[in-house]
Amino acid sequence: MPPSFADEHSPVEPYRIKVVEAISLLGREERERALERAGFNPFNLLSEEVYIDLLTDSGTSAMSDRQWAGLMVGDEAYAGSRNFLRFEATVRRLTGFPHVIPAHQGRAAEHLVLSLLAHPGDVVPNNMHFDTTRTHVQRVGAKPVDLAIPEAYDCENPHPFKGDMDTDRLTRLLDDRSAAVPLVMMTLTNNTGGGQPVSLANLREVSRIAHARGIPLYLDMCRWAENAYFIRTREPGMSQRSVREIGRECFDLADGATMSAKKDGLVNIGGFVATRDAKLAARIKEELIVFEGFPTYGGLARRDLEAMAIGLEEASDERYLEHRTGQVRFLAGLLTASGVPIMAPPGGHGVYLDVRRFLPHLDARHLPGQALVVELYREGGIRAVEVGAIMFGDGEEVADQGLELVRLAIPRRVYTESHLRYVASVVRHVWERRDSVRGFTMVEAPEHLRHFTARFAPSAD
Ligand SMILES: *Cc1c(COP(=O)(O)O)cnc(C)c1O
Repeated sequence: MPPSFADEHSPVEPYRIKVVEAISLLGREERERALERAGFNPFNLLSEEVYIDLLTDSGTSAMSDRQWAGLMVGDEAYAGSRNFLRFEATVRRLTGFPHVIPAHQGRAAEHLVLSLLAHPGDVVPNNMHFDTTRTHVQRVGAKPVDLAIPEAYDCENPHPFKGDMDTDRLTRLLDDRSAAVPLVMMTLTNNTGGGQPVSLANLREVSRIAHARGIPLYLDMCRWAENAYFIRTREPGMSQRSVREIGRECFDLADGATMSAKKDGLVNIGGFVATRDAKLAARIKEELIVFEGFPTYGGLARRDLEAMAIGLEEASDERYLEHRTGQVRFLAGLLTASGVPIMAPPGGHGVYLDVRRFLPHLDARHLPGQALVVELYREGGIRAVEVGAIMFGDGEEVADQGLELVRLAIPRRVYTESHLRYVASVVRHVWERRDSVRGFTMVEAPEHLRHFTARFAPSAD
């Protein structure tokens, strides 16, 4: 076997390119103007103003020729479309969950599950809530509680499964308040904590603890295939099992899942709820009809369901996953070699810069994550996102504990080795002049999910 995936080399693509899209880097002055117009928030930049777009891996994947072909066999019947049947059969086969309800994306699935299961005063534990999940828990008047292991908050700790839940804290929470806990959630992989995986051993333990008290376990399965790949490669005794087999055991430990297929479904739009609970499924379908559409399309075109069914299979292909996680590791390796501080070990869908060590001269009040995001665009037209005080602070406050990261999310099957080398060199240039980076203040912020639309200005001091 040729050594195609040696660490020091970029992994070799298990695909070739059939369609291309032109991108270009604006001049420095144009980038400055774009930043000002955008209120220094990358979500307000136009796509055409961005050269390498690492804002998110969500819905930004390149679909395969087979998926595009799938779009052409769309059976656009309102009810009973054959694409729905194929989609339903695929999700059932991969997850074992009998009830499959399509939704237009992950947060719609979260809305359906959380608005029905959680109530005012409830507590919802998760290894770490993603921003939309947290918001849906809060919207029903319940309290999201993050129970990740302490290692998850230490960027330098090489723990292979920083997505694990602290099962002692879970046990204590359930011993105190089990009547107030309508479900336990686990996010695979832990996006907010650096795309870090959850081990199968931990998932078994969480499942046992929740089920001993009659509490259902739901998976936020957005990156289930990347998570299963890490279990296969990092967890003792797992290397001989296939990703789908490992994934299936994860689902067997749970009662249901919410999915954004914009991640490990390799589509540009789509998601679903899957569950064993027939009663809940029936109630979800009633809600679905009000908010998303009939249960055989759930807010999507039927052709989208076809592409999603194909994408779910492709995303759990081991050669694809080896390349996918290899790209992240490659970029992480280039950055580490230049001394750039990152969340270690690298996770599944992106490299996360450790802002506290990158800009130690800026305290939380000066929004260092935002400052770094602005510099990456200013330096090289790269769009990234802050995952820290702004994304997770409440109201006027910025959260000044927990993680302060900037995520360089890698879209699936989109960028090549030279793009990643370019990204590494832009980050290195900012790193070399880090002492000159100034802070920001938030000048406009909405109540919920404020990082999407807030506006910022360079801070005066
Ligand atoms: C993206 C994401 C969601 C929400 O999905 P959308 O499709 O963006 O609505 C939920 N949880 C996690 C972990 C995610 O990464």
